[in-house]
Amino acid sequence: MAASVAKKRKYSDEYINYGFTSILADGIEKPQCVLCFKVLGNDSMRPSKLKHHLTTIHPQFTERYPDFFKRHELSLGKQRLSESGAFQQHNLSVLEASYEVSIEIAKKKKKAHTIGEL
Ligand SMILES: [Zn+2]
Repeated sequence: MAASVAKKRKYSDEYINYGFTSILADGIEKPQCVLCFKVLGNDSMRPSKLKHHLTTIHPQFTERYPDFFKRHELSLGKQRLSESGAFQQHNLSVLEASYEVSIEIAKKKKKAHTIGEL
């Protein structure tokens, strides 16, 4: 912490292995957990910090493959979450429930479309 103007840390693709994607807040890239949507500070943009979050907050997901996190990253991107953390309390079951709802909506749309063609 010697320099007052700290060099900003950059997101690396490998951080998805720790369950983290990146979010741009006030022009600063920050790590965001794809499981609980928590946004950490830019100074936490390093493997040790991200791994610490994963192993302490989500110990049940430490053995997951990157594909698992990437799926969550995709669903996260669709929700356009803000840094306010309004959705932080949403857990995985909520995320999966909303995913099921979107499938239901898609089914209904398809059905409506079919009816419309008749
Ligand atoms: Zn988390």
